[in-house]
Amino acid sequence: MQVYFDNAATTKIHQKVLGAMLPYLKENFGNASSIHSYGRKARVAIENARELIADFIGAIPSEIYFTSGGTEAINFIINGIAKTNFEESGKNELLTTPIEHKAVLDTHLNLTHNGFKYNFIEVNNSGSFSPTSLIKNISNNTSLVSIMHTNNEIGTINNINKISENLSEDQYLFCDAVQAFGKIEIDVKKLNVHALSGSAHKIYGPKGIGFAFVKSGTPLSPLLFGGSQERNRRGGTENTAAIVGLAEAVKIAKEEMDENYKKVTSLNNYFRNSISQVFGNKIEINGGSYTSPYIVSLTFKSEYFKNDGESLLMALDINGIAASQGSACTSGTIKPSHVIFGIGKEIDDANGTLRFSFNPQNTNAEIDYVISVLEKIGQQSKLS
Ligand code: PLP
Repeated sequence: MQVYFDNAATTKIHQKVLGAMLPYLKENFGNASSIHSYGRKARVAIENARELIADFIGAIPSEIYFTSGGTEAINFIINGIAKTNFEESGKNELLTTPIEHKAVLDTHLNLTHNGFKYNFIEVNNSGSFSPTSLIKNISNNTSLVSIMHTNNEIGTINNINKISENLSEDQYLFCDAVQAFGKIEIDVKKLNVHALSGSAHKIYGPKGIGFAFVKSGTPLSPLLFGGSQERNRRGGTENTAAIVGLAEAVKIAKEEMDENYKKVTSLNNYFRNSISQVFGNKIEINGGSYTSPYIVSLTFKSEYFKNDGESLLMALDINGIAASQGSACTSGTIKPSHVIFGIGKEIDDANGTLRFSFNPQNTNAEIDYVISVLEKIGQQSKLS
């Protein structure tokens, strides 16, 4: 049996998405900046996509910037707001949490070379940020607070909507919503954020396309120079087919999001109940009570299992099962996750933590199979 339980890493493109994209790779190949009919067709498709996405998240079209994915949107937003706000207000302090995606953490680290400082807001062992720590850390110099909506490794959902109440007019809030967009309602007004990132390939769209929402009036310097595209902030010929693919994925999400949520919640409950029956207190399910149903993070506790995440994943792979240890690794080597350390686990438990992430087409039969394989692996890796 082949089972794909790594949907938080990426999803398979939807047939309708592929179908919507193809004409823009074939006959409608025009450059959206050209004034002839080829160009105009591409322009119309891009602006329709912008409208659709804006409407889907409660924004206005001019607040949407297409990017090459979540990572680029995050870099654009954090650098763009921090640098311009520094020029305007002199503020140079950033706040974030230790369990953000690396795109957020490494962008903060990089900004320290440009005179910025950052502090971490504490998270509890479920991965939720502490409002007390947030308030304690806000100073007159705070420029930007970046807190993710749904954690990509443990699924924890943060309460974002009240954060802005603690910020003054020239202090900004960014929410990385890559793991929530298209799965859970995202409304930028209800969340009360100045900026938000989303990506297509987590919701059956193509890889390499995403967007940044940046509320109008928010200071924002350009990401790429050299063209007037995306209101002078992200130069370069637009990837029309990918933008159309993102829009089609959003159309599908609009229609199916609630139904999908129900299906995945049922899978998630079935997975949690079944695995708990088999492993009892030898495992721990991470993420606390308010988590995305799309993700289950499990720690095989070190007192019961020799924990080597890489061999666990390889053993699953040999049995046809795709899961992961956390975020998709880029270097080919699996390092214990900063998220699992961030919620207070020690190295052995971090090594024994696996992420299973679902899509609505997954089945209970697949879960039964995965659990039977885990049981087999578990027996082989007992300490004595
Ligand atoms: N933020 C989160 C929470 C993610 O899960 C990911 C992808 O894993 C990203 C950002 C990066 O998105 P992309 O792969 O589109 O660059």
